[in-house]
Amino acid sequence: MAEDRAIKPKYFKRHLRTEGLKGIYEIVNICNVCGAEYISASYQSSLYCKECGEEIKREKAKERKRRQRARDKEKENWEGFI
Ligand SMILES: [Zn+2]
Repeated sequence: MAEDRAIKPKYFKRHLRTEGLKGIYEIVNICNVCGAEYISASYQSSLYCKECGEEIKREKAKERKRRQRARDKEKENWEGFI
């Protein structure tokens, strides 16, 4: 899906505390699906919170399996012809 790649990770810096003159921040991600705030180790590539990420992973796996099945079926049909 081309639209998938257009989604950019949303995140902001949250100020935690100040140590001396330095502010300590953490990166907070915002889920593209449910809008929940969450902390992710790979914030630059993270688009979804854990729950939504799992859900999307499941959907993608299902889609992949579905396509694979369709391909296998096509192959069977072809082999039947030959
Ligand atoms: Zn979410």
